[in-house]
This record gives sequence, C-alpha cells and structure tokens, in this order.
Amino acid sequence: MSNTNGGFLSLPKGFSTMAIHEEQEPEKWAHKEVIMPISLTVSYKQSEPGIVKKYSHSRQGNPTRDVLERVIAKMENGNCATCYGSGLGSITTLLALLKQGDHILCIDDVYGGTYKLFTEVGTRFGVEVSFSNCNVTSFAKNIRSNTRMIFVETPTNPTLQIVDIEELSKLAKKHGALLVVDNTFLTPYFQRPLVLGADIVMHSLTKYMNGHSDVSMGALVVKDEQIGKRLKFLQEHMGVVPSPFDCYQVLRGMKTLTLRMDQHRENSLAVARYLENHPKIEKVLHPGLPSHPQHELAKKQMSGHSGMLAAYIKGDIVTTKKFLKSLKCFTLAPSLGDSESLVALNAVMTHSGVPKEQREKLGITDNLVRFSVGIEDTEDLLADLEQALAQI
Ligand SMILES: *Cc1c(COP(=O)(O)O)cnc(C)c1O
Repeated sequence: MSNTNGGFLSLPKGFSTMAIHEEQEPEKWAHKEVIMPISLTVSYKQSEPGIVKKYSHSRQGNPTRDVLERVIAKMENGNCATCYGSGLGSITTLLALLKQGDHILCIDDVYGGTYKLFTEVGTRFGVEVSFSNCNVTSFAKNIRSNTRMIFVETPTNPTLQIVDIEELSKLAKKHGALLVVDNTFLTPYFQRPLVLGADIVMHSLTKYMNGHSDVSMGALVVKDEQIGKRLKFLQEHMGVVPSPFDCYQVLRGMKTLTLRMDQHRENSLAVARYLENHPKIEKVLHPGLPSHPQHELAKKQMSGHSGMLAAYIKGDIVTTKKFLKSLKCFTLAPSLGDSESLVALNAVMTHSGVPKEQREKLGITDNLVRFSVGIEDTEDLLADLEQALAQI
C-alpha cells in the first residue's frame, strides 16, 4: 500500500468490511433484513412496573443509535462511543466532564464554533480556557496546574497544521489531563488517535463520516470504561441525543466511507499540486505535499488525507472574492466533507467570530481560501480552477 499512498502509514486492514458489516448481521433482525430496520419508538413496554428489558426511553438508549455507536467505537479502536445531535453538541458534553476552576488548553487554530463554545459558554461556568500553537513545546509551556483537558484538531482548521498526537499524549498523561482529538478532518480511515495515545476522539459526523451533507451529528469515542459510562450518563441526562433516522443515515453514509475518502484524497492532491504550480497562487497548505512543513509527521501518524486544503491567492480580498465568484463546480459554502466540492473564505465565513488580530496571527488572512475538495471528476475540478484563476 505504501507505494500507492505516498509513503503514508499503511491503511488499516479490513476497514471497508468493518464499515459495511460490523454489528449489522441480518440474523440479528426479526425478518433477517439485509439493511438494519430503523427503530423510531420513543418508549418501550414494561412487563411489570419497573421491569425494563433493555430499553425504556429512546433518550436512554435506542437500537439504531446503539449499532451506530458500536460501529464507530470499533472503527476508532475504542470501547465506547456516544453520539450527539451535532459535533458541537458532543463538545458541549465534554465541557460537562469538567468543573468550575478547571482549565482547557486548546489549539489556537480551532474550528470557529469550538472557539466560541469554550470562550463564551465554558467561561460562564467558571471553566478557564487558553490557547497554544501546534507545537508540543508550546503546549508544555502553557499547561497549568489546573489543566484537565487538552483539546486539539489535527490537521487544524483551516491552516492544516499537524499536531504530534503521540508526543502530546505523553504530556497530557504527565499532567493528569485528558487529551481530546477532533478527528473530523480525517475520519478513522486515515487517523486513529486512540491508538496514538489520545483519551477521547471527537467527531463532527456531519462531515466526512456521513458524507452527504444531510445530517447534523457528533460523536465521542473513548477506551476508558469509566469515562465511557460518564459520557453515556451525560448523553442521556443532558438530552443531546440524535434521532434514530439520522443514525440510520450515518450508518448508510459510512458504508461508502473508504471509497469516498480515497477519491477525496486523490482529488485534493491533484488540486493542491495544480495550485502550487499556478502563478496566481502564493502558497498552498496540504499535508500530502512535500512542501508542507510537517509532511514527515503527517506521514508518520496519518494513513492518508482528506479533501481539505487551503491556498493563499495573490492579491487582496477583492481579487479573492472575484476568484470565488467565478468558480462554477466549487460551491461557496461553509461546512465540509461532502461529495460536492466547497470553498470558503474563512476570515469572513467560519472564523468571523475570531478577533481579527488573532486571525491574522494564525494566517487566516483575507486571501486565504479553504477548499473541501469533493469526489467529482478530477479534470472538471482542475478546469474550473483554471477558468476562475484566469478571471483575476
Ligand atoms: C463542523 C466541525 C465541528 C462542529 O460540528 P457540527 O456537527 O457542525 O456541530 C467541529 N470540528 C470540526 C473540525 C468541524 O469541521
């Protein structure tokens, strides 16, 4: 495999079969359905008052959700997964693992919604938050005696920096803090943080895992049974559960996860290479390019990369907007991980809530365009870029 994926880690064996069949044997269902039936009921009959067979209320447990959670736990090499109404809903639940006076050390180039949740909600409940750049030495410098959680994305959003998960997990353990890795950008097909030492994997299933831009859902995956039990409790009692129908949609989406991710990888690399050689592009950020400052680290901890990349257009915001408006195959929209290719001007779209000074420090300038490269024909995407760049 290593010669076909540019020297990245070898891909997990049997992963596609797992994504399609795990926990979904027809023998388990009443009529041996090949596709698992959806269980929509909220309430369950009791044989005697207080005698519960397995489920009592769907907030506490639901057969469709259970299957989804077990498949995701398996994919991530975890023991317990819990799903939530959105990615941010899962991070809200993470906050409830903490108490007043605890500190979160978060990566600075973080999803805009996570930034707002930590700084404008967490802090109201007395949870402190501060930020570090992607280097483990910077995390070590910024850790406090009350740091209980380290939260990172890798690659980061939108500048695609890589965090060394294994090294950071050693630091977290030494200080008794939980290491949370947001694995939305890569999915377990390309990166499995629990294997590298992380304590909790977080997902916005809204993105690549479901992959069809028609479900909002999040997940947390852990190895530790105590934390798993606590998260199950919080999921039920905070009420942040997803609907059974949405769980079915994600199970369906995941059946094609590996096919989609392989195509996202091929297309994003083709787009990155094309842009890197274009005179109207200042710089391209993509972990699969040898020019990426952390390309070697990427190859060490990832088995591939998704459709995410970013590029700086030569010119100001007016030029950049003109380029975006000229695109036909790429749709100007937030979100990512869909079959459709999307572009975003992060400074005014996903990161408008981050103060300008902080944004510029992170490299999220007015000419930075983030691409979520979809799974269309490569030639059509390159032709679209060609004609849009010709307009500026
Ligand atoms: C979208 C996203 C989230 C938030 O997930 P929602 O499902 O939209 O609530 C968190 N982290 C990353 C990296 C994301 O892309």
